[in-house]
Amino acid sequence: MLEDHVDRRTVLAGTALGAAALLSRGASAQAQAPSSGGTLPARSDFVVRGAHVLSMDPSIGDFASGEVHVRDGAIVAIGVSVNAPGAEVIDGRGMICMPGFVDTHWHHWTTFLRPVMRADDPKRTYFPVTFALGLHYTPEDSYRAVRLGLAQAVSAGVTTTHNWAHNVRSPAHADAEVQAMRDSGLRGRFAYGCPLGMPNDKPMDLADVARMKGDLAGDPMLTLGICSRNVDGNTGGTRGAIDAAMAKTEWSKARELGLPITLHTSGTGAVEVLNGAGLLGPDLQLVHPLNLAAADWEALAKHGVHYSVSPLGEAGRAGEMQFIEMLQAGLKVSISIDNVTAERCDCFACMRMLQTINRHRTGGKFALTTKKLVQMATIEGAEDLGLADKTGSLTPGKRADLILVRTDAPHMGDIGDPYDALVQLAQPSDVDTVVADGRVLRRKGAFTALDYGKLLADAAQSVAALKTKANWT
Ligand SMILES: [Zn+2]
Repeated sequence: MLEDHVDRRTVLAGTALGAAALLSRGASAQAQAPSSGGTLPARSDFVVRGAHVLSMDPSIGDFASGEVHVRDGAIVAIGVSVNAPGAEVIDGRGMICMPGFVDTHWHHWTTFLRPVMRADDPKRTYFPVTFALGLHYTPEDSYRAVRLGLAQAVSAGVTTTHNWAHNVRSPAHADAEVQAMRDSGLRGRFAYGCPLGMPNDKPMDLADVARMKGDLAGDPMLTLGICSRNVDGNTGGTRGAIDAAMAKTEWSKARELGLPITLHTSGTGAVEVLNGAGLLGPDLQLVHPLNLAAADWEALAKHGVHYSVSPLGEAGRAGEMQFIEMLQAGLKVSISIDNVTAERCDCFACMRMLQTINRHRTGGKFALTTKKLVQMATIEGAEDLGLADKTGSLTPGKRADLILVRTDAPHMGDIGDPYDALVQLAQPSDVDTVVADGRVLRRKGAFTALDYGKLLADAAQSVAALKTKANWT
């Protein structure tokens, strides 16, 4: 096992990310680890003054002109006025200060395939492109793609992400994805999955999942889960389709390790299969509430299952978007980006899409306030990932994951209610400042340390090589 481990690290050491991979094995080395695309800025001592503060914590509330003090990566104080001697002042006037967005399902490994895609050519849409090229990924490709996706997350104000890694082609690929997450400075969960094309009767690499659990033990920023292949038998396609017996084998091991599970359910029948097999539970996150039956959502509510909805992609898929039924049944529903290969990272548009679909489907009879949508995109996403003790609201003692959103762009006009502005008007380019765990990753709409051009150049190099390997024309 140890020899195996050393081998994998040696593989990484032969790549551009090797130094970072080796250095960042220990938490103490993590902060200083060099990375492809820049080092992380230090955690700073600062106070935001004069912003419209939305704490997303009901016990604290909001402040039309408020202050937030951050020190050593934590939120120290929040209020109309806070005492922060010596702290750097960030002028928040004309901006909304709120928790960073929490994405709850995103296939970061597909990110750099966007230039290969064509929305209007069936041979070049998301599934055929990601499958054809995904079979040839090296660990370095995985690193570069995930790194690029995480950079796009930062630029759009996402500070926590659920990296749904359903193309882990080897333990070294898993290490590379985790390394990219560490190098990004973002918080998140790594959901360990199978490689594309793996036979449905072969179980996932459960020994390496256990090994990864040990590697991530005590990591202050990252947690671990598994992403399962589909179980409904009718939507597996290129992503696999396992039966209830295989799901039991894999999920039982995950549960023994205390790991949460996530699964796509865009087709029909998955919930019935899972319920019949006794596999539903509060540690299960399902993705894409489409095509479910009333009996399904009752079973989900009974077992405390939660759902992630990906509004931008789901709105273009067959079936009704049933997040409304899920909310009515009492399920927790959070928001996800899914991928930035076919879609884009835009949490504002995600919230707006949910509002639009609700009006389209119910005529607005189901009350879905703009504040509820912002809750779904922040604190309820954190709850979904089991991270609400660390992030999702601006609460003293939590880690400092926050963003400042400008309100002075022409498309914003003169804003009234801040929640209304976030849902109706805002877009990612309005995100001025992004702070994750007290590190200012983006300021005045620009990366503070990241060399985004290098990430793009590395990505282009990987994509060119993958196209050659896959004979893609
Ligand atoms: Zn997905």
